[in-house]
Amino acid sequence: MAKKMNGTVIVTYRCNARCTMCNRYKAPSRPEEEITVETIRKLPPMYFTNITGGEPFIRTDLKEIVRELYKKSDRIVISTNGFFTDRIIDLCKEFPNIGIRISIEGLEQTNNAIRGLDDGFNRGYTTLKKLVEMGMKDVGFGMTVQDLNAPDLVPLYEISNELGMEFATASLHNSFYFVEAKNIIHDRPMVASHFEELVNRLLKSKSPKKWMRAYFNHGLINYIYGQKRLLPCDMSFDTFFIDPYGDVMPCNGTKDKEIMGNLNTQTWEELWNSPEADAVRAKVRSCDRQCWMIGSVSPAMHKYIWIPGMWVVWHKLKSLVMKRPYCMYENKIVREYRDGKVSKEELDQCSTCDLCAAVSDGLSEQSRQQLQTLRAEESVHAGPGEQTV
Ligand code: SF4
Ligand code: SF4
Repeated sequence: MAKKMNGTVIVTYRCNARCTMCNRYKAPSRPEEEITVETIRKLPPMYFTNITGGEPFIRTDLKEIVRELYKKSDRIVISTNGFFTDRIIDLCKEFPNIGIRISIEGLEQTNNAIRGLDDGFNRGYTTLKKLVEMGMKDVGFGMTVQDLNAPDLVPLYEISNELGMEFATASLHNSFYFVEAKNIIHDRPMVASHFEELVNRLLKSKSPKKWMRAYFNHGLINYIYGQKRLLPCDMSFDTFFIDPYGDVMPCNGTKDKEIMGNLNTQTWEELWNSPEADAVRAKVRSCDRQCWMIGSVSPAMHKYIWIPGMWVVWHKLKSLVMKRPYCMYENKIVREYRDGKVSKEELDQCSTCDLCAAVSDGLSEQSRQQLQTLRAEESVHAGPGEQTV
């Protein structure tokens, strides 16, 4: 029996939102080319599967995909912008144990400004509340923190707490997946101070899961200052991403798409043990992008549990004698920037932001050709089983 993995299935590159930090909506996949249930059947057994997009609920056959994935996965979480409320509720009725993460980018005004969806906050929030009322246990917010929404970070955490929900965070990344190379945090100390407050509140809770999230958010401060990841990155060793074309990749953080093989045309064993897959693993070993996204950090936190574990124990001990057990100046680089030993320009150079980069989108030639006759917005409603927003 093959080793159990951690997998992410990108079911579509189409998206109905217009986020400021992601251009994926401008580079959609052609619906006819998107991953089929036949290809999903070839995936290995997984202890965790994340279904994402684009916006996964654009696919009207998502239920069939989930049904197939449940045959091989212990736990499934879908990441969504929460716009297609009826489709989400309908799917959750059939799969009450599934996890749903709705990305909300701040309080109402901020969220709608970042996401570019009319009434996006209310739709996302209403969907979340309905899921909680239905008795769904694994429901939560996801927020990508940037300069504009950092002040909403703690208020949004408190809302998620009141509703008894999970609260997942990220910060800006650049990659082919986001079709973006210019994302960057401008006011690092301001953004870090909001993460600091969040870390302290998480540490004060009684939940070990939240203490681990505190460590993750501590790592986000380290990341926005462009420092080396706190944990090794082992993507492509027992973790993979598969995209709408069936291309298997180590992660979604690389500048260009790194392809280990294609599951439409290969078996899993062929692909996973191929020289191409080994070449990608060699690149991962020397990758300097230092991403800190839950997809690559969560497996590392499990594998190197003693590192976050010791951090948590130390800060919980501190919380016995201090009101605020965590301070962002614990990070050497944060102190150095405060003390003028390192400049903003030097930190900017440590980030993956590249204003001159040609942005890669990972699209197939046919999907790119589609854009000549079909506007990206129209692709949301295109394809087999016409969509209605
Ligand atoms: S971040 Fe997500 S919701 Fe926003 S445009 Fe990109 S794929 Fe769509
Ligand atoms: S650091 Fe890891 S997750 Fe990020 S691009 Fe490199 S291999 Fe991918």
